[in-house]
Amino acid sequence: MKSYLFAPGPTPVPERVLLRMAMPIIHHREEAFKAVFEEVRAGLKYLFQTDQEVLILTSSGTGAMEAAISNLFSEGDEVLVVRAGKFGQRWGELVEAFGLSPVYLDFPWGEPADPAKIVERLEAQPAIRGILIQASETSTGVMHPIREIAKFTSKRENVVLIVDGITAVGVFEMPMDEWGIDVVITGSQKALMLPPGLAFISLSEKAWKMAESSSLPCYYFDLKKHRTSSKKNQTPYTPAISLVFGLHEVLGMLRAEGLEAVFARHHRIAEATREAVKAMGLALFAKSSPSDALTAVVVPEMVDGLALKKAFLDRYGITVAGGQDQIKEKIIRIAHLGYFDPVDMFQVIAALEMSLYKMGYPVKLGSGLGILAEKLA
Ligand SMILES: *Cc1c(COP(=O)(O)O)cnc(C)c1O
Repeated sequence: MKSYLFAPGPTPVPERVLLRMAMPIIHHREEAFKAVFEEVRAGLKYLFQTDQEVLILTSSGTGAMEAAISNLFSEGDEVLVVRAGKFGQRWGELVEAFGLSPVYLDFPWGEPADPAKIVERLEAQPAIRGILIQASETSTGVMHPIREIAKFTSKRENVVLIVDGITAVGVFEMPMDEWGIDVVITGSQKALMLPPGLAFISLSEKAWKMAESSSLPCYYFDLKKHRTSSKKNQTPYTPAISLVFGLHEVLGMLRAEGLEAVFARHHRIAEATREAVKAMGLALFAKSSPSDALTAVVVPEMVDGLALKKAFLDRYGITVAGGQDQIKEKIIRIAHLGYFDPVDMFQVIAALEMSLYKMGYPVKLGSGLGILAEKLA
């Protein structure tokens, strides 16, 4: 049986990227590595749509989230934490671990944050120095209104907007400089089509200024040190050389396709997947503003969610993600971020139809596939 990866991270890695990463290791202080690194830096600026340095950290995405906190703030700083899912909670855990004073703004799982409520809170509590949020909340499949929030924060000198863009960068439009976002973060194993192991972070001038007054301890993730090295096409410590090679290949692929086309491809297959799911009589978990990174599908009452996920794997070799925490068995999450094309979606929708059919759910075989074909033809 073949294996298919349809979880929203880690995502499939293209064959040419795998081959590139199999190249012999070169020394990272040699000119050959610096030449690759220089092109990678330019490619990352293109991807983030920024003139700022995009720093490469050797960690999973959470490492860059931690770096944002430890480099920008000081103990006791008030920050607004937007929570509408598992990854919003992670921001909360991080700021508590570093002794900040979180102000929580919660929204129901499955719904986007309301920018008016965020602005209201910032105006009521002017001591708040940062907003921590996701652009795409991967646990619920919902996109938050970053542009609207940035319209407000970009005009204020004393508050930074920190965006976990881990399932947004390379999926949909979020130009960092144009919108005035202060920190953008992503990781290698999502839309960047790489194995896990790299995290990326970029800071605006305002964020770098705030970093100057931070008094939290950091060493491995000291971003000033990373920026100084990066400008010399180096990293302060040994980089994940093979992953940087893979990244070089990926950035070349993204540039060749063009960012606009990359976003359009994601939107097209996400939209078709959502329509196919609805045509099967199933509901989307996102009440509004669904993310083009993944589709979270509500498991019907009569179906056991864990058994459905197991059926995908045992019968068809397909890995999808279930829900997290209180919605563990209630949803399944189907990825379309990264190395996916229209034809891939037929596999996962076919498996969904067949699994539900086998489990006794009254689905008309072909109902989802028919719509998928109609939308993608
Ligand atoms: C995957 C993901 C993360 C990071 O998780 P790691 O396991 O540390 O890479 C953070 N935020 C979001 C929204 C994610 O999807």
